[in-house]
Amino acid sequence: MHKVKAKGILSASNGMNLYRGCTHGCIYCDSRSKCYQMDHDFEDIEVKENAPELLADALSRKRKKCMIGTGSMTDPYLHLEQHLRLTRRCIEIIGQMGFGLSILTKSTGILRDLDLLKQIHQRSKCVVQMTLTTFDEELCKVLEPGVSTTRERVEALKIFRDNGIPTVVWLCPFLPFINDTEENIRGLLDYCVEAKVKGILCYGIGLTLRDGNREYFYQKLDQHFPGLKEKYMAAYRNAYELVSPNHEPLMKLVRDTCRENDILFDMDQIWNYLCEFDQTSEQLTFDDFW
Ligand code: SF4
Repeated sequence: MHKVKAKGILSASNGMNLYRGCTHGCIYCDSRSKCYQMDHDFEDIEVKENAPELLADALSRKRKKCMIGTGSMTDPYLHLEQHLRLTRRCIEIIGQMGFGLSILTKSTGILRDLDLLKQIHQRSKCVVQMTLTTFDEELCKVLEPGVSTTRERVEALKIFRDNGIPTVVWLCPFLPFINDTEENIRGLLDYCVEAKVKGILCYGIGLTLRDGNREYFYQKLDQHFPGLKEKYMAAYRNAYELVSPNHEPLMKLVRDTCRENDILFDMDQIWNYLCEFDQTSEQLTFDDFW
């Protein structure tokens, strides 16, 4: 871990990453790709130690309240968040200043901040997003070794359901010849129905690979699935998008399940839902929040 003083914290679309790099070890992680020009080891986490001050300043200069997003490039609940509490401090600021929050994670570490997320949602809007890829718990531990298992994540989703906090699930990626099966997708969809998720984001049955994450992924295939790298190379060469041979029927399964259970599936609708912030919501004051 190394600390830096960041120059800014919010992107043009009001997203933020408090850390850079990740210790969760997902074998397919796109954030490892060279195009992101990380100048340190992926597991040597960059900590933006002045993020809370930058965030408070950025929010104070906004003319309108809006949703603030986090979790796109790294998980906000890395192992070191347990003692650094950077994510928690930023959520506190978002709540105190009356903004909404959309947060994406694979870690049940988020439950530590349930009190703050509930307060935000009672006053304005909070949406928790979780990624699910693998129904089989043992396979999940191979593909995503450093983070909560699928079953643990689903238990967290149910806790959010019971506390009235809406959830959106990312179903992706699906690794050809590994977890791109009907059994896997059905298992995950059943979990989503059980947890009464608001929406499911699924761009397709497959994964993306590019320089940086491809090398790491192939190294892990050699380690855990001997012979499979060669099958990938024969099927996809150096393609960026690796679409599963089962893409069509499995996408139909996802769409049909969403329709039958009133789960949002349309990408635009879900993104609108994640971004929309009702200005008429009761606004927080500092005293209300505490
Ligand atoms: S949790 Fe996200 S950022 Fe971290 S290794 Fe997994 S895919 Fe990459």
